[in-house]
Amino acid sequence: MSGPLLVISAHAGDFVWRAAGAIALAVERGDRAKVICLSFGERGESAKAWRAGKTLAEIKAIRREEAENAAAALGAEIEFLDAGDYPLVETTELVDRLVRVFREVNPAVVLTHPLYDPYNGDHPAAARMALQARVLAQAIGYDAPGEPLGAPPVFFFEPHQPEQCDFKLDVLLDITPVFDKKRKAMESLPAQQHMWDYYTDLAKRRGIQLKRNAGPNLGLPHSTMGEAYMRLYPQVTDVLA
Ligand SMILES: [Zn+2]
Repeated sequence: MSGPLLVISAHAGDFVWRAAGAIALAVERGDRAKVICLSFGERGESAKAWRAGKTLAEIKAIRREEAENAAAALGAEIEFLDAGDYPLVETTELVDRLVRVFREVNPAVVLTHPLYDPYNGDHPAAARMALQARVLAQAIGYDAPGEPLGAPPVFFFEPHQPEQCDFKLDVLLDITPVFDKKRKAMESLPAQQHMWDYYTDLAKRRGIQLKRNAGPNLGLPHSTMGEAYMRLYPQVTDVLA
């Protein structure tokens, strides 16, 4: 995995909880990392701001600033399509905007939500649009600037309630060297402060599983931290490893 990383996130915070480690690792390797937020999560994932009496416009501005700070902590580019949330409505226009992003970034790897989430319809909607855009961007006849896309692998990042979203991890990514950056990015999102420790604990648990799967006696540190991913397409290789 090397080359541009494209992350397609339904709401402003999703990429932080679920993929900040992968993003920070890509940036540390010198790869471009671009995050697309289809919405700010202004209606569905900003309860604290609503309770504080903020207006919709204020909440969008708050969530934008928070997400920009989180992306800056990781060294990633971020772009907001302001497509609205709860519901995030799938449109051909939105897919077309994503096709243009795919053609411009030409990602080596794509991260997005899993296709099933009975708690949050915006997440699968984002995934469906991301996958449709990826396929359209591959078509030489699709009218958008740039060259046709290759076949970048797609990894689903871990949903909030993985068992109910049919999430079965295929990949455990060692994010130990960048966990401090992930924590800093999480702390850039005070609107969802209740998530900071939850996702720190999850990274510890995935780290324990990572050590177990790497080999129990390989000497990975006690403090190993992990992020889990699920592959959509088969891995392509000439060596089984
Ligand atoms: Zn979300």
